[in-house]
Amino acid sequence: MYAVASCPVCRARFRGTATCSRCGTDVGPLMRLAAMAHASREQSRTALANGDWSAALGHARRAQELCVTRSGQALLAVATALTARERTGAGEQNA
Ligand SMILES: [Zn+2]
Repeated sequence: MYAVASCPVCRARFRGTATCSRCGTDVGPLMRLAAMAHASREQSRTALANGDWSAALGHARRAQELCVTRSGQALLAVATALTARERTGAGEQNA
């Protein structure tokens, strides 16, 4: 499962329900965004594994737009570096 931090209204930790257990705020839309960001990070990781740096970069950017996370930031940094390396011709591939 993806990790969603806390309710934006009262800061209570999410407990996997669409309504905050403390203040009753509907957190369903936020959870859906977090799930979409999680899916984009997975797509970015798959693209990295396949050596498709530009696709990895696109998915990582999308993930961070939806929901900023540390793992998303790390993915974005890696994909950005690999894409830049490829553009300068420094990263010759054997494949
Ligand atoms: Zn709350």
